[in-house]
Amino acid sequence: MPPVVRFAPSPTGYIHIGNIRTALLNWCVAKRDGGRFILRYDDTDRERSREEYATAIAIDLAWLGMTPDLAVRQSQRMALYDAAAAKLRAAGLLYPCYESEDELERRRRRQMARGLPPVYDRAALRLTAEQKAAFEAEGRRRHWRFLLDHRNVSWEDGVRGHAHVDTASLSDPVLIRADGGYLYTLPSVVDDIDLGVTHIIRGEDHVTNTAVQIEIFEALGGAVPAFAHHNLLTTASGEGLSKRSGALSIGSLREAGFEPMAVASLAVLTGTAEAVRPVASLAALAGLVDLSRISRAPARFDPAEIETLNARLLHETPYAEVAARLEALGVGGGEAFWLAVRSNVVRLADAKTWWDVVTGPVQADAGDGDFLARAAALLPPEPWTEGTWSTWTDAVKAETGAKGKALFMPLRRALTGLDHGPELKTLLPLIGRARALARLGA
Ligand code: GLU
Repeated sequence: MPPVVRFAPSPTGYIHIGNIRTALLNWCVAKRDGGRFILRYDDTDRERSREEYATAIAIDLAWLGMTPDLAVRQSQRMALYDAAAAKLRAAGLLYPCYESEDELERRRRRQMARGLPPVYDRAALRLTAEQKAAFEAEGRRRHWRFLLDHRNVSWEDGVRGHAHVDTASLSDPVLIRADGGYLYTLPSVVDDIDLGVTHIIRGEDHVTNTAVQIEIFEALGGAVPAFAHHNLLTTASGEGLSKRSGALSIGSLREAGFEPMAVASLAVLTGTAEAVRPVASLAALAGLVDLSRISRAPARFDPAEIETLNARLLHETPYAEVAARLEALGVGGGEAFWLAVRSNVVRLADAKTWWDVVTGPVQADAGDGDFLARAAALLPPEPWTEGTWSTWTDAVKAETGAKGKALFMPLRRALTGLDHGPELKTLLPLIGRARALARLGA
């Protein structure tokens, strides 16, 4: 059966390279086996969810080449969650609680002071009908907790191998807040059942949730999907990434001019057994994904690696793949120009800088006027090819006796205004005789 996966961001901020790691791993696992990729907006938190973030997430996914087969919003699926909650209540697995946040906090502190784990003590289960009525009369609003089974829940994790959590060590999770709103835990399971999700691939910060959610899957009579928890991307200093800081957001990387596949390659290959290298397409990247070869250690990366990968990717990119974008940048010269400059660009927009060098004007170089004038006189007639540079410089060498750096550097400076750049044998035919003569001061 082809896999059905989902990427389930909360639209409460701009997604970053760590979030996209999750999306990409899901995409790769689904698409290499002809499966489906669902985008699920976890937007039950009405206060923090924003339409602009939801839109930005869709744009980010599209930029990376991930078009969802289906997009759903939890905010539009409340009836399903209500039905599931009713089912759990009927089974005695969802119970009302009346404690305020403050009370819970005090209780946790007392437990910790006594060296006990701060686990909810299920006091609400022992309330009598009168006590509950009294709370309601006071105007207290109840929230609802799921009654964990207090057993060892285990699963074969796609990344971590055999995994287990004793749910007796956990607090019964709150599924419905006092304001009636659903926390993420229940809607996620309801949707995974309803949408036939077969694989849940998400960050290892969700391992504990998985034990809880497996109990909920079972309580609702749903098939338990396969789980895999990947390591989280952190910067080299070990810092986690935060949606709130906006750092390394996909939008900011796009605006900084990075290629989607540079970002995708880094996001997916960091922290795996594969060498981090630029991969040309998502399909090729999918071929490299093996969940069982993701490391258990944090996936550390240096944000500066994006530049390196971007450059390496562009150095291998064929003209046809960038032709339209080069044209939009106002870059001419066709394939010959791209092949001449691609190993000198870090970002695609750098090609424009080199195109400006070809078309000029270039920074005039005072240089050795006599040397340049003698060189100018030796410029062969057009048409020029890649061989023209060596024909010409051989002649200049024979005429002036200059060689090596003393021969090439003054010519490069005069022709390009710079002392570094793409090979002149490829640039010279693009610059052409008329411009070359002018730049040599002839
Ligand atoms: N909205 C959750 C998150 O962003 C989804 C986790 C999951 O994949 O189940 O962490």
